[in-house]
Amino acid sequence: MSDTAERVALACPSCAPATQTVHEVLTATGAQYTVRCTECDHTHKTRIEEETTIDIDVVVSQDGESFTSSAEVPAEETLAVGEEFVLDTPEALMTVRITSLELSEQRRREAATAEDVETIWTREVDNVPVNVTVHPRDGTHDDSRSIKVYVPGDFEFTIGETESFGEDEFTIKGLNVREDAVGYDRDSLDHDGDSVVAKDLKRVYAWDENTTAWSAW
Ligand SMILES: [Zn+2]
Repeated sequence: MSDTAERVALACPSCAPATQTVHEVLTATGAQYTVRCTECDHTHKTRIEEETTIDIDVVVSQDGESFTSSAEVPAEETLAVGEEFVLDTPEALMTVRITSLELSEQRRREAATAEDVETIWTREVDNVPVNVTVHPRDGTHDDSRSIKVYVPGDFEFTIGETESFGEDEFTIKGLNVREDAVGYDRDSLDHDGDSVVAKDLKRVYAWDENTTAWSAW
């Protein structure tokens, strides 16, 4: 039924087609509204879609730890693995990337309509840990070591470039891309100049520059 007190801002075809004026709602049947412009008294019909939003559980993974929060999402929106959104948690605003969508009965999908999703699995991508396997230039693979570096999600790792993190210095020779990263035609990059941002990286392979420095002496 109509709510005569309701007022909405709408374009008026008579006096303000390009802007908005205050309209009084005369009747409303579903999304079909009859409204009257308060500026010129022109009465017209229009559709006003009210977007339904739903709360969905969001599990956020951060460097091995995880916590559960929730997000308000338009019910009709399509969600997909690889998409990023800003999550408002009690602690902080953070950018997260969808890694999996869980539907009822623990079914998992790459993409789904929000209203079908029970849990959005994500990981934080503002700051990320990156696994680096460092090989000595003159040693065997048995001598390789694995380290973890912490960088902003947009930090770029480029093959052929030398990076320093604290005591560690290494030259990048290979980059492995994560399954939830979009826009790469290969999972594994090994050409000079190829680059991948930290949040898209599963692992970096590098030559140890520390070892080289030592063996030079
Ligand atoms: Zn008007």
